[in-house]
Amino acid sequence: MEKRDFDAVVVGSGPNGLAAAIAMQQVGLSVLLLESKDTVGGGLRSAELTLPGFIHDICSAIHPLAADSPFFKTLPLHQHGLEFLAPKVAAAHPFDNGTAAKLSISIEETAKLLGADESSYKKLIKPLVHHWEQLAPDALGPLTIPSNPIAMGRFGMSALLPATTLANLHLKSTEARGLWAGMAAHSIQPLSNMATSAIGLVLMAMGHINGWPVPKGGSHSIANALASYFVSLGGKIETGFHVSSLKQLPSAHAVLLDVTPKQLLQIAGHTFSPLYKWQLERYRYGMGVFKIDWALDGPIPFTAAECRQAGTVHLGNTLEEIIQNELLTSQGKHPERPFVLLAQQSLVDGTRAPEGKHTAWAYCHVPNGSEVDMTAAIENQVERFAPGFRDLILGRHTMHTSQMEAYNPNYIGGDINGGIIDIGQLFTRPVLRLSPYRTSTKGIYICSSSTPPGGGVHGMCGYHAASRALKDIFKLKPPPLA
Ligand SMILES: Cc1cc2nc3c(=O)[nH]c(=O)nc-3n(C[C@H](O)[C@H](O)[C@H](O)COP(=O)(O)OP(=O)(O)OC[C@H]3O[C@@H](n4cnc5c(N)ncnc54)[C@H](O)[C@@H]3O)c2cc1C
Repeated sequence: MEKRDFDAVVVGSGPNGLAAAIAMQQVGLSVLLLESKDTVGGGLRSAELTLPGFIHDICSAIHPLAADSPFFKTLPLHQHGLEFLAPKVAAAHPFDNGTAAKLSISIEETAKLLGADESSYKKLIKPLVHHWEQLAPDALGPLTIPSNPIAMGRFGMSALLPATTLANLHLKSTEARGLWAGMAAHSIQPLSNMATSAIGLVLMAMGHINGWPVPKGGSHSIANALASYFVSLGGKIETGFHVSSLKQLPSAHAVLLDVTPKQLLQIAGHTFSPLYKWQLERYRYGMGVFKIDWALDGPIPFTAAECRQAGTVHLGNTLEEIIQNELLTSQGKHPERPFVLLAQQSLVDGTRAPEGKHTAWAYCHVPNGSEVDMTAAIENQVERFAPGFRDLILGRHTMHTSQMEAYNPNYIGGDINGGIIDIGQLFTRPVLRLSPYRTSTKGIYICSSSTPPGGGVHGMCGYHAASRALKDIFKLKPPPLA
């Protein structure tokens, strides 16, 4: 092979950029990782956003997918400072009558609070939990012939259903239907859309497998551990390097970009075939988020005890209410009572706040590009299930969708998944191609959450993109998965 400055250059150091860089460095290539911000991490950064001594996760907070990633699990991240801490309750879902459903590590304990659905819940979730280890590499990858066709077929039949259909087929009680709606609403689209059950099922299974942990010290601990391991293998990182053109890059046999199609077109569009450019231009982004962080004088006084022990709390009341509000948001409206995802990392990680004080993190979905201030709507939802919450607020920090995008150019219009993950873009993100990671230009790959399996901190998009490049260009086998 002709001599180049590096074997591979990776642009962008989110979990997928880091995973791609590690996978290629592990098999002996020389890899340069470039990042436009001053620190690595993408969606994995933490900072004192409100007051001194309060560490907030700027983007991702809760890490069931990182803790169980088939690639991250093979890496010695513990030796590089990463420690996961699981809360007593993975997630809780309060209702207006003061009760709550909960997702805890025990299937029995979770099912017991679901009234008439105790046995239906067990029937639904047990096969997935028991077969997850064999399913994960197929479920968290591009569309291919599955290595476990029977288990994958059974998962696929439920996962491809709209969340509303799955609820109507299997769940009767208000508790089970509410809990389910909160899980499925992580799909960030109307719950009547096909395949909205996929993320709900995976998240519920993860609750029983790893209890939805948080990384000690903040989400940046995951990025720091990945970067430290990459450097220990001989990898090079340059921060403060924003790439707007391929001409800025040193010479390399492969370039992998941890960016979404809009930026990919800006950086490398002139090299693409007209068909590939046309396909990328049609890529669709989804709803955005309005994000808020609080420094608190004490733990949130939720009425339901389950919520006071939970790392994550879903605030949206019943299935019907969540369906209605997610639908309104997808239609460009700002509901008075939005579905809110709230995390209380300091309950389980004492390093996040000064003694006796706490942090909380929350976001709600908003129309793509919205600059409406949702602070009051979100705080009303917390107060609804935790009267007295407002009195504890010592400081707050908010970000609307344009601020999210200014912070990280991958959040187009505030979309945190690198593009909507609906049935049209679940397997064919960013475009319909034999390998979704290859572009039409030899040696240029896309490795962000705009490729399968999509959003979330798992690094699997990066791993699969690197695997593709290793096979195509270097004729090398990728490092094995767990
Ligand atoms: C508010 C919020 C909450 C979330 N909560 C969770 C959660 O709790 N759990 C979870 O699993 N996931 C969560 N996510 C989603 C998760 O963070 C993302 O899906 C994940 O980070 C995507 O990884 P990525 O590597 O594809 O891209 P990113 O993490 O977005 O990283 C892209 C990186 O590339 C850099 N970059 C972009 N363009 C250029 C350029 N031209 N030149 C140089 N560098 C560039 C960016 O600065 C950034 O560092 C959340 C996201 C947000 C925003």
